[in-house]
Amino acid sequence: MTAIHCLRCGYDLSGLDLRALCPECTLPVARSQAGDLLRYADAGYLGSLRAGLTVLAVTAGAQAALSFISCASSVAMPLTGANLWNQTTVLVWAALWTVLLLADVVAAMLLARSDPGQLTAVRGSGLRVSLIVVAALLALGQIGTTAIGQWAAAPPDLAAALGLLTQAVHVAFIILLVRHLMGIARRIPSERLASSLMAVLVFTLVVAGLSLVSQITVQVVARFGGPSSGFWRVYPWFTTPVSVMRAGVLVWSIVLFLRLSREIAREAAAGRAEQPPDPIA
Ligand SMILES: [Zn+2]
Repeated sequence: MTAIHCLRCGYDLSGLDLRALCPECTLPVARSQAGDLLRYADAGYLGSLRAGLTVLAVTAGAQAALSFISCASSVAMPLTGANLWNQTTVLVWAALWTVLLLADVVAAMLLARSDPGQLTAVRGSGLRVSLIVVAALLALGQIGTTAIGQWAAAPPDLAAALGLLTQAVHVAFIILLVRHLMGIARRIPSERLASSLMAVLVFTLVVAGLSLVSQITVQVVARFGGPSSGFWRVYPWFTTPVSVMRAGVLVWSIVLFLRLSREIAREAAAGRAEQPPDPIA
């Protein structure tokens, strides 16, 4: 028998029979042997996780659609001269993004609920709080960037600087979110789902890095020597692949969010079928 420790109190259970109880806290040895699985989690908590993942999947779908429209417009603009952007569409666009980011705050709150059934709950609590705080900062950053962009007397670089800062917060949000979801996947337990989430995170960071380079380039070009029409003709050739990659990563994330949600439903059903072993003295 390999060494196992009690999930509740950490007592070394090596050598004890699977039908025995922990000598320190009476938690069945079999329960610690099985691991801190989601099937033993509170049913309400599992419901919140699934709701949070659904909200994430919907917002990721909407973000992919917005990304597609923005990409199509940047390709069409130099070719046809048709400009999608005027004061009204810029505002509508900003409002849509704000709604999506506020929905992500709701998703973060649903996903970061604490699980009353979790025996090793203490470890993840810092991550749970930061997930909600960072999601809220992200929505505030988006609102602030739009407000400053609309404010005529604002220093010209303020909106651009706040926009870049908001992007950095977005990256932090994605890192925290994926780490949190990986922790959930490990309680299914699915190491494969956890590594797919890790792969999505890496690709998201690559896309975010490329997108940052493209925005800084525009800022630099706009400041030193006004951008020539040649620059704007070449520029979409860089931004379009980045937008396509971003849409691809978003679609991949949707698939993983829905798969995780389905696995959680399966765990919940398994939990209903198999009650945790009763602690009988
Ligand atoms: Zn114990």
